[in-house]
Amino acid sequence: MTVKITTHEQAKTLIETHDTFLFDCDGVIWIGDELLPHVKETIGLLQALGKTPIFVSNNSTKARTDYVAKLAGFGIGGIETSQIINSAYSTAIYVHEVLRLPKDQKVWVLGQSGITAELQLLGYETVTFDDLEAAAAARGAAPLAMEDVHELVDPGVGCVVVGLDFQLTYLKLGVTLQHLLDGKTPFIATNIDSTFPFKSTRLPGAGAIVETVAFASGREPDAICGKPNAGMMDSILAHHRLDKTRTVMVGDRLNTDMRFGSANGIDTLLVLTGIDREASVAAGHDDVSFYANALGDLYTLYNS
Ligand code: PLP
Ligand code: CA
Repeated sequence: MTVKITTHEQAKTLIETHDTFLFDCDGVIWIGDELLPHVKETIGLLQALGKTPIFVSNNSTKARTDYVAKLAGFGIGGIETSQIINSAYSTAIYVHEVLRLPKDQKVWVLGQSGITAELQLLGYETVTFDDLEAAAAARGAAPLAMEDVHELVDPGVGCVVVGLDFQLTYLKLGVTLQHLLDGKTPFIATNIDSTFPFKSTRLPGAGAIVETVAFASGREPDAICGKPNAGMMDSILAHHRLDKTRTVMVGDRLNTDMRFGSANGIDTLLVLTGIDREASVAAGHDDVSFYANALGDLYTLYNS
């Protein structure tokens, strides 16, 4: 049964019966660049009570250090890099620990710098279309064109990672496809969110780009490293010992956050400050243990 958290007793019990709080970020902690009300106080309360907050985001565009800085900018301190697990990081961990890609093989990345940064931190050489363009410019060669696509295949690439790329172009898709046409180079997706919230609307998410590459190549990703996929939990478990019976996943989206928690046998708390609203709670009842209007309610109710 799904319980709505509306009283002091309920908030207190929820806090007291969990030690680890996995927080989705956008829609729970902040929306874009705005911190949501009483979130700082809620995290502070949990830290004061000895709880462990871990931030679990499907956004692959930033590196973990960017998250620590963003939280600190909101006055949420005391967060270590190991308490940030985003899909860029879980992808890098997957390539390293599950795929065990040898370090002398390169990773082709269609995506933002968050992905290349995390792969490079683990010792991988990354190649992007921007790198190829910069190399051509340095040689004084003409800008890359469709005619060049075939020659742009790097035989040293041992894995292809596809995430969200805000500068997506047809040529980038074309060169990415070339690296998958052998039918065997591993194809890894950071996450498959169909959209992400942007200001008062939504924009196409990484899933829209992954689907394009999948359709063109006739291949499905060999792994998807975001919520609700298993790779994300593996990355969390690589850093943190969790007692699943005392862990709760807090999120704003049924098909990623709530599914992720319930698929991993942990409690879930849906907050209504992001994608899903009260009307959807019934549809997702199998995956939702608790729901609340906002994460900040835990603080205000606890202190009421
Ligand atoms: N992907 C991108 C590019 C985003 O900007 C966001 C949210 O801002 C997300 C995914 C979803 O992130 P989260 O899992 O933190 O809600
Ligand atoms: Ca979210």
